[in-house]
Amino acid sequence: MKVSAYGLTRLSPLPKRSVAPERSQALDTVELSAERPQSISGWVRAGAAVALLGASLGCLAGPSTPGLIAASATPAEAARLSQRYKRVDPKILQLLVNDGVQVEVVRPGQSFMQTGVLPARSLADFQAQMGKMQATAKAVETATAPYARGIARLQAQGLDSGQLQRERRSVLLDTLPHDSLAVPFSIPSLAGLLRDGDGLHKLAQQQKMPKGTTLMAQLVGARTPAQIQEYTRLVEAINGPRLEQARQASLATATPAQQQAWSKDPGQIPLDLKGYDILVPDLAYVADGQGGTARVSLLDASVHGAWADSNGKAIKNSSINGQYFTQSRRILVQSSKVAPQPGQSHSHTPLHELGHAVEDSVSRHDPRFYGSWHSKVFIAYQGAVQGGTVSEYAASNVAEYIAEGVGHFYEDPNLLRQKDPKLFELTRQLLERAAQL
Ligand SMILES: [Zn+2]
Repeated sequence: MKVSAYGLTRLSPLPKRSVAPERSQALDTVELSAERPQSISGWVRAGAAVALLGASLGCLAGPSTPGLIAASATPAEAARLSQRYKRVDPKILQLLVNDGVQVEVVRPGQSFMQTGVLPARSLADFQAQMGKMQATAKAVETATAPYARGIARLQAQGLDSGQLQRERRSVLLDTLPHDSLAVPFSIPSLAGLLRDGDGLHKLAQQQKMPKGTTLMAQLVGARTPAQIQEYTRLVEAINGPRLEQARQASLATATPAQQQAWSKDPGQIPLDLKGYDILVPDLAYVADGQGGTARVSLLDASVHGAWADSNGKAIKNSSINGQYFTQSRRILVQSSKVAPQPGQSHSHTPLHELGHAVEDSVSRHDPRFYGSWHSKVFIAYQGAVQGGTVSEYAASNVAEYIAEGVGHFYEDPNLLRQKDPKLFELTRQLLERAAQL
């Protein structure tokens, strides 16, 4: 998937950022019964209890999940989604509603941004976060300084610094806050995500263009000189004098011809990214499908690249079934995945995506529980991948392993217990904690 390229650089060491869109092979080969009774005591009454709650609140969003299902779902779709969520403990549904989680339905041809799951951020949003982004850049600099010095020493001696480079990257990622709007600069991954039609990303992937701030701006979709300048100013403000230091370090090793070429525009001077950790705003200029340009975060833009074309129109035959957005707390379900398709007994997507949202809520409300629980999940995940006991999709990363656990837990707990008892038990623990919050 295109998103996974981005995930490798930024997301994978931070398990809470579960943004990988769902592919078709969400299930293993075993067919699950759509309406098999829950074996977990107490939860069989969930549907009735939520229906009562819905009646008492007089909510119109859905027959049995008040507030959870957004207006983008038709009444028929809302009813079908509610049917899926009848299996879920009503306390958990209430937690999600309290946390502002909503389930949206997106259908082919629909403008992606119009669904509201891809919020357009204004430049002011980023400027308001400038203090935080600068603090993040400072924290990264402090944390990675020993590695930068070690790398410089090794390079001066002509020795391989690859291992230290990787460790520095890992420290950098660990230092970034969960909700950081300042992220490490990484051209190829992002460029691929934006589905840029003008071939810029191909050039960048081939590393044929200097990694200067002008290229950075172009790669996140800035087209006009004003947009490029606007983006460059943000990068300068976040990094302070380090940006110029990174330029000077490149200039020091440049040929006279290169210096001549770059002298016209400081934005053309490549940044020494081996010596300096330069952070960029998590921002992309994305066409909004109405002839304008909306500014969104890179995280959202990566999702956009997977779901929509460059005009903001949903891709008709996208293989992605659903998506959970940590930032806007939206669950997105393809309209074709709301209900079982002909010949299928179930639709897995709504409960799988709900699993991502539950994990996210628990991580926010009880980080202490989440930390120890997640380390156990990680061990179980590694065991399951090595043992080959999980579907290809669940094996793609820990977040998908968990979401698959939740989906199967509700659809067929006995099957899950039989196939992966550790995941069954850890899923049970997660849901038990979620019901207490
Ligand atoms: Zn998923």
